[in-house]
Amino acid sequence: MSIQSFSKIKTLTLKIIDELGKDFSIDSIRCFIEQIRNKPLLIQRATIPNSINGFVVGLADVDLIVIAANVDDVLVKAICTHEMGHLLAGHIPLVSFGSDTPSLDNFNLEDFAKIVLYRDNRYESRQEQEAEYIGRFLLAADYRYESTIPPHVRHMFR
Ligand SMILES: [Zn+2]
Repeated sequence: MSIQSFSKIKTLTLKIIDELGKDFSIDSIRCFIEQIRNKPLLIQRATIPNSINGFVVGLADVDLIVIAANVDDVLVKAICTHEMGHLLAGHIPLVSFGSDTPSLDNFNLEDFAKIVLYRDNRYESRQEQEAEYIGRFLLAADYRYESTIPPHVRHMFR
């Protein structure tokens, strides 16, 4: 996908959040992405190199978000929404390795983590900024909808 302006991304993300409305949750975004990409989106914790918090890859049969096993629980959602941001922004090809793309069963997570590690060291930051931008909107929406503040006073905080 061509580079989009941040305002376009913002509009798109807010539209998605708005359409999901009261049903908004991280899981509803997951389902939304599954519909767009027409395959399951799995989210897994795994041991990956220390300098990576998470990554996303398009496999032949599923999309896979991996979140480092050692990250703090409070960061898990932020990492997840960031990786979802990559999917929503169209950064991740349907199959990340073309016709050589493995299925989940044949995917070597350790090898791929090394590629991500190498890539991220020299990665231009534009896509990272876009993913982070989307991720923060999703996270804020999730916080708003999951808030324990009673609905009749919740509007005061919007
Ligand atoms: Zn990223």
